[in-house]
Amino acid sequence: MNDARPQRLDPGSVIGILGGGQLGRMIALAAARLGYRCHVYSDVPDSPASHVCADATVAGYDDRAALKRFADAVDVVTLEFENIPEETVHAVMAHKPVRPGPKALATAQDRMLEKDFLNGIGIATAPYRHVTDRVSLDAAVAAIGRPSILKTATSGYDGKGQIVIKPDSDLDTVYRDIGTDHAVLEGFVNFALEISVIVARGLDGEVAAYIPVENRHVNGILDTTIAPAGISPGAAARAGEIARRAVEALDIVGLLAIEMFVTWNGEVLVNEIAPRPHNSGHWTIDACDVSQFQQLVRAICGLPLGSTERHSDAEMKNLIGDEVLQWPALLAEPGARLHLYGKTAIRPGRKMGHVTRLRPRSNPA
Ligand code: AMP
Repeated sequence: MNDARPQRLDPGSVIGILGGGQLGRMIALAAARLGYRCHVYSDVPDSPASHVCADATVAGYDDRAALKRFADAVDVVTLEFENIPEETVHAVMAHKPVRPGPKALATAQDRMLEKDFLNGIGIATAPYRHVTDRVSLDAAVAAIGRPSILKTATSGYDGKGQIVIKPDSDLDTVYRDIGTDHAVLEGFVNFALEISVIVARGLDGEVAAYIPVENRHVNGILDTTIAPAGISPGAAARAGEIARRAVEALDIVGLLAIEMFVTWNGEVLVNEIAPRPHNSGHWTIDACDVSQFQQLVRAICGLPLGSTERHSDAEMKNLIGDEVLQWPALLAEPGARLHLYGKTAIRPGRKMGHVTRLRPRSNPA
């Protein structure tokens, strides 16, 4: 598909979404508000996104015929999780534009590529080494020191596929447990806090970033996002600049979320990137002029980006596992904005919904 002279896709067009989770659900809700229809492609039936989409395809990500039918039925395709197989994206791209495209995806899918890319454009990360066998683990630990974190290079999420190497950790055990010959050893960052920035880039190259927010994790899973992050204006400016540089270098049309560490001396180091809406941007639905989801729709459809201004400060709390059972009390709480994802089975660690609480806007931009 020749994407060189992009067309604006007006309301009424159909947006295809690869992936059927809550991010897809919230993309579809934002798209519907602007008069677009969505068609979700997921490998599981009854996905959260399918409940709110005009059409749904349930098929494997390697089902060529289903992917072709899906592509024929939509005008543009986006994705809601980055571990979509590269071949799936290429199969769809043969027929319709996929935004963001394969470069952003490939980079975000592999922690080695991601770190090499970031460092290559002058963005700092924790020190790291590629671990490909038992011997290279020794060399990496000698170079990086302890404590450090060994992470699988691909397919890790929400803290899965990670082992902390402590002063007394046995490297034979660590190597056996990581179970891959494509891993990254990272220096352990003694951070003051974790932040993220979500940045959008339109079809015409226009860029708009949301303010940096603070993210608090529990058991490696995002628990709470606080907007804005309590960081210095200098650190906030550096975080915004990192986001803009990365979204341009990856040539993204859509969104890029960048998770970062802020160290005690105000240094900003990137942890990881995701070319899609992000859990730490859910607060924008209730507190900003234009949410991250509407911003994505605008970007991929070639509309002008919207204002990223917030009218309120916000705290977003994920409802994980059986925390979702608090929904009656949250419904009754004045000012609490409740979002439920329509998942029937409650499992530990599963993101079931979130609640956003607003506060009057503080001054910092
Ligand atoms: P990740 O899956 O890479 O986002 O890691 C999940 C969480 O583990 C992060 O949000 C941090 O809280 C923690 N973490 C990951 N990498 C590091 C690191 N290099 N130093 C310290 N903490 C880390």
